[in-house]
Amino acid sequence: MRRMAEIAPESSATPYFRFRSAVGEHVLIVPHSRIFDLSGDAARDWDRDGHAARETALMLAAETLGEAGLSDVVMPQPQSISLNVSSACNLSCGYCYADRGKFAGAQPKRMDLDTARAAIDDLLLHADRASPVTIGFMGGEPLLNRALVQDVVHYAEKIAAGRGLDLRFSMTTNGTLLEPADIELMRSRRFALTVSVDGDGVVHDRQRPTPQGRGSYAALTKRLAPLIADPGNVQVAARMTVRSGTIDLAARVEAVLAIGFPEVGVSPLRMSADDSALAGEDWPKYLSELTTLSRKELATANTGGAIRLTNFAVALKQIHAGASSPYPCGAGGGYFSVAADGKWYTCHRAIGDPDYEVGESGTLDEQRRRTFLIERHVHSQTDCRCCWGRYLCSGSCHQEARNRTAESCDFIRDWLRFCLSAYCELSTCRPDFFLPRTVN
Ligand code: SF4
Ligand code: SF4
Repeated sequence: MRRMAEIAPESSATPYFRFRSAVGEHVLIVPHSRIFDLSGDAARDWDRDGHAARETALMLAAETLGEAGLSDVVMPQPQSISLNVSSACNLSCGYCYADRGKFAGAQPKRMDLDTARAAIDDLLLHADRASPVTIGFMGGEPLLNRALVQDVVHYAEKIAAGRGLDLRFSMTTNGTLLEPADIELMRSRRFALTVSVDGDGVVHDRQRPTPQGRGSYAALTKRLAPLIADPGNVQVAARMTVRSGTIDLAARVEAVLAIGFPEVGVSPLRMSADDSALAGEDWPKYLSELTTLSRKELATANTGGAIRLTNFAVALKQIHAGASSPYPCGAGGGYFSVAADGKWYTCHRAIGDPDYEVGESGTLDEQRRRTFLIERHVHSQTDCRCCWGRYLCSGSCHQEARNRTAESCDFIRDWLRFCLSAYCELSTCRPDFFLPRTVN
């Protein structure tokens, strides 16, 4: 992995964040996300003398041998791509960022086989054998180009086997076109399937209608049932979009879980094609709904159960792992999205946007990648340089950063604070929760 540049942090930025939980007093050392428990006396001392606290935190924040530098701009080899195989969708959801796969005219045709194979060749030729390689299918609705999906899976497997690569697949789908052949293809492979489901039949049909205005819930649940009943190797998850005015999470999440999904992730709209993105007062309400739901999940986990809310489960695992990064995701680093015409973009939401275009298969533009990675580093974000959440939130999604508001950032920090407390509670009540599971 090449180190391209270094971007100094803000020297006055806070190196720690103090918080408490149901089991005591704690401090998060912001760089490298290290959490320490404090006795009552230590907490009082910490809070009384800000200068000494800062000095101690800076000492505890020192980089250890082999740890990635948080100021570094590195350029890894692409390790994961999504292929935008379809430029159409059989549904017509008003908030769709992809314009049903057409990306405001930037993607008029679906992907052909030569384009897909060229992207796969490029990815698999350079990918690192030491880490998994992932090929994702997106659109529009990717199953509208089913033949290409099938071909890519077999083609990529052949090349990956020759190179000794650990190959995995993913797909984001509305689920209404799933056929037995698709399910068969996925079951026998490492496939992560994310299905868009927005609640019970009433909410889902209102938010995710067909172009003729009919609902899609019945088709979704019918087509999905065999996979839910017997997922094989498929990791199935639901993704629920939350729009302004539909923030009642608990009932909607329960309705989605009742379909049989093992977990559901909720995703608030920060940008929307139909003006339904969350704004202002929506954020405190969303936070309250999300934390109420998470508290229930935490109570279940404390007594031996699983956490079914993906957002919460992922946050806890990341905190446990000491996740700390100057980037919110792999976009433009190890991850790219390939448009139907073969152009590579930093991610799937940037398709058709020249600011995020970084070349074509076989000819990635190193200078454009470098510029993107420098500009998107959290130390380059004026709003974020001094924020205590800077290495956990990492500036949030690049595509949504321009819609950042005081309210949306307050939501992020309050959610992080909740997750940090929940982590301390869970790791005390149930330390085995974070042990790797034994595979029999
Ligand atoms: S919470 Fe807001 S200011 Fe803080 S790192 Fe995230 S996006 Fe930046
Ligand atoms: S920039 Fe945003 S949409 Fe794109 S990969 Fe990152 S988090 Fe996802």
